Amino acid sequence: MFEVASGITAIDTFYGGRERYTAAYLLEGDEPAIVETGPTTSVEPVVAGLERLGVASDDLAHIVVTHIHLDHAGGVGVLADRYPRATIWVHERGAPHLADPAKLVASATMIYGEDEMARLFGEVRPVATDRLRPLVDGDRIDLGRRVLDTTATPGHAKHQVALLDSSTGAVFTGDALGIHPPDLPALRPATPPPDYDLEMAVGSIERIRELAGDLLLFSHFGPVREVDRVCDLAVKRFRDWTESVRVALDRGADLDEVVEVLEGVAREDVETGAESALDVGRFETLSSTRMNAMGIVRYWTKRRETGAAERDAASP
Ligand SMILES: [Zn+2]
Repeated sequence: MFEVASGITAIDTFYGGRERYTAAYLLEGDEPAIVETGPTTSVEPVVAGLERLGVASDDLAHIVVTHIHLDHAGGVGVLADRYPRATIWVHERGAPHLADPAKLVASATMIYGEDEMARLFGEVRPVATDRLRPLVDGDRIDLGRRVLDTTATPGHAKHQVALLDSSTGAVFTGDALGIHPPDLPALRPATPPPDYDLEMAVGSIERIRELAGDLLLFSHFGPVREVDRVCDLAVKRFRDWTESVRVALDRGADLDEVVEVLEGVAREDVETGAESALDVGRFETLSSTRMNAMGIVRYWTKRRETGAAERDAASP
């Protein structure tokens, strides 16, 4: 646990048993809130962190998630039971999946397999509908003494939001800028299926750049102060990865070959001189190259289908 800005404390959720992978954040206020929960396997570290920060089970007023991917929000159902007075905030497109996680679990199981699902995420419990508050772009969450302003940030996922803290100007980025573990010398895009969309992702990064004061709070992981540099880098990475896949697909590459291409691009992403510090295996747990490849291939497939449909419609 460490304070990242006035009244905001990062709590390590020890995702996959690792330090400094995923964070939940406590915001102090008349109505204390956490942003992100981590998966159910992270509930105990989060509860212990909140206890040490003086937040008892009846004290927590709000649980806010940037999006519903399980490494961010898988634990929300169990935490909602532990904090019975908390209101749960999530983008309106994500809310039905927190109320009934069956589809979410099924699609994650297709990507991860049963064993990894159990190891990384654990059980995914539903949230009672009457405790869910759907968010849309522009909504405000009033915590007393500070508010969180919601901005829709699709691209990584259709149902993702960024949250601006009125008190410090810090922005919670979710996965909009990709992932940036503090001790790894690289920023990796996160482009999973089924939603990944390059234009939306770049638009969302630009919205975050405009909103942010001098502090970004990554879910993976922690505070970053060089807002412009990191936004520039994120845009470049998303574009480079997506374009590399287009080139590979144009020459007929299959998914395994696309993965190989992205592995090469990922190696080049490492900042010069820091190659020896890069433990690629650590990245793979958070945002695997195969998952990113699947998301980008799907993006190009959708683009081509849409383009073909538009050409058909335009032809006499
Ligand atoms: Zn995500």
